Amino acid sequence: MGSSNFDVIIFGAGVGGCAAAAVLGRQGRSVLLIERDWSMPDRIVGELLQPGGIDALKKMNLEWVIDGIDGIDTYGYAVVYNGKIVHLPYNSADSSVHGRAFHHGRLIMNLRKAAKESPNVTCVTATVNELLRDEETGRVVGVSCTDKESNETLQYHAPLTIVLEGLFSKFRSQFVKSTIKVDSHFAALILKDAKLLMPNHGHVILSDIAPILMYQIDPQDTRILVAIKGSKQPSWNSDEMKEYLNEKVPAVLPEAIKQPYLDALRTQKLRSMPSSFLGSSPNNTPGVVFLGDAFNVRHPLTGGGMTVVFKDIDLLSELLDPSIVPDLRDFDKVAAQLKKHHSLRKRYCIAVNTLAQSLYALFEASTYHMKILQRGCVEYLQVGPQNYSEPIGLLAATLEDPNVLFYRFFAVAFYSLRVHARSLGWAYAPVIIYDSIVTIILASSVILPYLISEFMA
Ligand SMILES: Cc1cc2nc3c(=O)[nH]c(=O)nc-3n(C[C@H](O)[C@H](O)[C@H](O)COP(=O)(O)OP(=O)(O)OC[C@H]3O[C@@H](n4cnc5c(N)ncnc54)[C@H](O)[C@@H]3O)c2cc1C
Repeated sequence: MGSSNFDVIIFGAGVGGCAAAAVLGRQGRSVLLIERDWSMPDRIVGELLQPGGIDALKKMNLEWVIDGIDGIDTYGYAVVYNGKIVHLPYNSADSSVHGRAFHHGRLIMNLRKAAKESPNVTCVTATVNELLRDEETGRVVGVSCTDKESNETLQYHAPLTIVLEGLFSKFRSQFVKSTIKVDSHFAALILKDAKLLMPNHGHVILSDIAPILMYQIDPQDTRILVAIKGSKQPSWNSDEMKEYLNEKVPAVLPEAIKQPYLDALRTQKLRSMPSSFLGSSPNNTPGVVFLGDAFNVRHPLTGGGMTVVFKDIDLLSELLDPSIVPDLRDFDKVAAQLKKHHSLRKRYCIAVNTLAQSLYALFEASTYHMKILQRGCVEYLQVGPQNYSEPIGLLAATLEDPNVLFYRFFAVAFYSLRVHARSLGWAYAPVIIYDSIVTIILASSVILPYLISEFMA
């Protein structure tokens, strides 16, 4: 059994692990980055980075990782509702505000390059099996892992271990209080040479079925993600699922997308991922910090995951800068800075997380009263920049203010009631009053539990 010492051990060389290794290595920390598989990942996740995520990369001098990977700039969203397009630009006056969509694996390979080229970073191929603890204090002092080549068990020690092992984290339950919740899945295909209604925009198709997302990820490929309700892994062979994918989905797609979708369905293997929520919760064990999807997850509808990860890493590197914490063995100082991190990250993660959860609830609307909210939401955004600029700023994560989310969400709810009343006519006053009460209660039940739990965490 071998053993070595570092300042920081990071495991998981995915979105967050690589960024963290690159930045901390540049700060002069000796970093060990452990990954079980360094080959290019082929995944259906993390393919659109919001403008706020690009800003975080810039702050870390890592913005080049989204270049040279055949990515596609995105300037906002097109929401297709009952055949009509609602255009929601990030910033119509400033084209420098943009996101970028790409093949996830290509981004990861650039991030890994950044980590490997950073000074003071050692990379190894191994699977972490255990977090080592000091028997007396319970503090995490390092990891035990199996080396891929030799199959040997190796132990590495460091005053700080950063766990960035992703959504299917196996250590989370030992350290993090919150539990993960899955309420839907995304089924994924690649559309070949599809012509989107608004090039360089993410597309959201709203209809009687759950929402469908599309964004072009390279000059030929467009990702389509079809939401499937339910917490269970979809069974592709059931008659119901076949009818859903072969008939219901194409029926709501724009004409130009139908054939590429049917071709993809015929020729590709469907893949899926759970759409999960894991609220933030402080982890109080000294010597370890959980970040990324191992720590905090929101619905992928709004493409906010990588943005939160990059913002978290940027903030962490600021708080642990050697000018503030010269020695990571100063455990009290590190604990104080991690506490600060937990509280400061709320300014962006509350808005991104709550928006993702509440928007999905509105967009998959399956009940009569949710549909009132859904229609009101689309019509509210359609009014113009005075209504959509702040919500799209929250989604882009360029606006970090949960109060704005609260205010805008209830503005949408009350607008929905106006739209509903107008469509029924005041002859239906008793129905309108009843629907208004139910809809406001429903709106509150959609947003408040997330807002409150994220604030209190
Ligand atoms: C369907 C779907 C679509 C999404 N789309 C978007 C999007 O468009 N935009 C966006 O911003 N976010 C999106 N997300 C979320 C985003 O993908 C995640 O937030 C992000 O990938 C999390 O990064 P991470 O570093 O925590 O984990 P990952 O990037 O998953 O990295 C984890 C790494 O840890 C390694 N690992 C795991 N266990 C071990 C171990 N024991 N030992 C060693 N190594 C280990 C893995 O091999 C992997 O390399 C999406 C999520 C889903 C489910």
